[in-house]
Amino acid sequence: MEGIRMDTESFNYKKYGYLRNSDGTFIQIGISANKVESLTRKFSYQTLVEKLTPGENVLHVVFIDKNLKTIADSDIKALGTVYDKNEEPEIQAALKGSLSTRNSYYKKSDIKALTIYAPVVTNGEISNVLVISLSTEKVYYNIYMLSIISSIIAIMMILMLLLVKNENIIKPVKRLDKSINQIDIEKAIEYRLSLTEGDTFFGVARSINNILDKTSSYFHLLKEHQEELQASNEEITATYQQLAASEEELRAQYEEIQSYTEKLESLSGELGHIAYHDSLTNLPNRIKLVKKLEEDISKDKYGAVILLDIDNFKSINDTLGHPYGDKILKKVAEELEYIKDEKMFIGRLGGDEFLILIQEEKDIAIIENYAKHIMNIFKNKIIIEGQENYLNCSMGITLYPLDSNEVNQLFMNADMAMYKVKNVGKNNYMFFNEKMTKKLHENIRLESILRDAIKKEEFKLLYQPQICTFTGKAVGFEALLRLKNTPISPAQFIPVAEETGLIVEIGRWVTKEAISQISIWKQKGLVLKPIAINFSAKQLNDFNYIEFLKNTLKKAGVEARYIEIEITESIFLEKKEENIAFINELKCLGIKIALDDFGTGYSSLSYLTFLPVDKIKLDKSLNDKFLELENIKVMDSLVSLANSLNLEVVAEGIEDLVQYKRLKIARCNYIQGYLFSKPLEVEEVEKIYNYNFLDKLKHDHQ
Ligand code: C2E
Ligand code: CA
Ligand code: CA
Repeated sequence: MEGIRMDTESFNYKKYGYLRNSDGTFIQIGISANKVESLTRKFSYQTLVEKLTPGENVLHVVFIDKNLKTIADSDIKALGTVYDKNEEPEIQAALKGSLSTRNSYYKKSDIKALTIYAPVVTNGEISNVLVISLSTEKVYYNIYMLSIISSIIAIMMILMLLLVKNENIIKPVKRLDKSINQIDIEKAIEYRLSLTEGDTFFGVARSINNILDKTSSYFHLLKEHQEELQASNEEITATYQQLAASEEELRAQYEEIQSYTEKLESLSGELGHIAYHDSLTNLPNRIKLVKKLEEDISKDKYGAVILLDIDNFKSINDTLGHPYGDKILKKVAEELEYIKDEKMFIGRLGGDEFLILIQEEKDIAIIENYAKHIMNIFKNKIIIEGQENYLNCSMGITLYPLDSNEVNQLFMNADMAMYKVKNVGKNNYMFFNEKMTKKLHENIRLESILRDAIKKEEFKLLYQPQICTFTGKAVGFEALLRLKNTPISPAQFIPVAEETGLIVEIGRWVTKEAISQISIWKQKGLVLKPIAINFSAKQLNDFNYIEFLKNTLKKAGVEARYIEIEITESIFLEKKEENIAFINELKCLGIKIALDDFGTGYSSLSYLTFLPVDKIKLDKSLNDKFLELENIKVMDSLVSLANSLNLEVVAEGIEDLVQYKRLKIARCNYIQGYLFSKPLEVEEVEKIYNYNFLDKLKHDHQ
């Protein structure tokens, strides 16, 4: 067969075919192209039908045109059959485009069949109907087969699905899980899940990565904070170490201080001992005594304070020297320690004063026994450097809380009592009593009176004439101080003036007044007679006294020889050389010096040999004692000794004639006493100025 081509003769398109003859020749057959087309179509349905060749499966195949005429039929014989449209409505339906089926019985082969009516579309419109009858048995078989096949396919599909699932879900999940498992924020903060485009969990992995990004940034932030924290932690650690170091340093310093404290404590122990003990005798000192006494008083305990003062200790120091005096004090301390018992607390106040507490004792008799016991120490001679010393002591005793519950008051009480002993002859003890307190108050009152008197010049002088034993004439006068407005005796107020230092000013007033009196008498044209003024040892503190005296004499135009100064031997107890020089200075001015109150106190005849005095005044007590008949010779010797030393003798306090007569026999130069005259007011003095007292005597005894 050839393809359609143009006929070179007719110029029509024809399809040529060749037939071989039995002789081998070929016959060309040409069919017009149009005919070919209709034939082709005709034959194509038939060819198709034949191709579907009825067999076991296909029982019958027919193509039916719109006219219900078969145009192709597997049963070639039935070709051209026209179908009744009422019998087979399915053909009609197929021509309208619907596919339908019909179960039928195939008589010819005695087979049940399924007939399918399907429209055939040519060039966009339904041209024919295909009717195909299939053996149902085969169909079921086929269906069965089909179902097996489809089951297999289904299984295959499932397997495929599983495979796909495995590939697309399980594997990615495992990968993802593995990846996720590798996430370690601590060790690999920068780790990210690998992203594979198209991966099932691409989105999930990306989200996780986003989370990881954020976590990482938070982690970095945290790390920064951690670093900061670390830094501050390090700082804190450093500070802590520093603190620990300083603590160690402090501890070391503390230990050092501790050791110093210990040293100090031991030192202060020593110092404490020094602070509370007297360095010479090692006895408790004043501070310790005060403490002890305060303790006792605060605990309402009874007891006694004994103040002991060694008699005339100053003269020991003066004559034997201070080192020797110290040795005596040490010895006394030892002796006191020796007799000490549990009730006694012994200390040294200073100088030659010791203080003994008799603790927890209120029986006066027992306390007095302690005093006697202490006195006994001094009964024995004290030998120092081979030299024997006979010492005495004076003690003042006060009781607590009876006399006072104040330490200072108790000390003052004991002091007063001790001085009282001194005043009444020393070498004894005395209890403080109320009289002493009264005296204290009296002294305070006197002091204010004196101050007042100084301010208002309320002093005056009385003059007691000194009478010549032989002529009976007044040879001079002793100026005796009085307070104008009160009868208080100088014996009372002079000691107060001395204690308070007021004596310096008072002494100057007396000096000036006496000089002025001389000048008055001078002006009155009287034959001048010297006035003796009393000069207290305390006035030695008046350093410019001599200057003052000179000036006053000069101003008043009075010669120094009209002023006498009466001193007592106490002036030489301290600073002996210095004071002798002072007296000599006075003497150089032309002033006469009288040694007053001779016969009281220490009064040693040997004094008279070196003291720069012109006169001695025998004290009233001495006269009273030695002018008795049996003692008259003592007086004779005393006066003759004085005379031999060129000293004039004045007998003081002579009240009766017998005494005068004895003194005349003893050749005593002058008499001063009530027998002739009491101290007189200045006006009265002028009346007796030239009076003969012997006449008065005769007159009185007639
Ligand atoms: P004195 O210096 O021993 O004076 C003598 C004292 O004896 C005077 O006492 C006098 O009045 C008194 N007297 C004189 N004759 C007799 C007598 O026959 N019998 C008695 N019982 N007494 C007689 P006065 O004036 O009371 O003076 C007492 C002491 O006061 C004086 O003792 C003297 O130490 C002191 N004194 C008096 N005036 C002064 C003064 O101006 N300065 C100083 N520092 N002391 C003075
Ligand atoms: Ca006198
Ligand atoms: Ca006297």
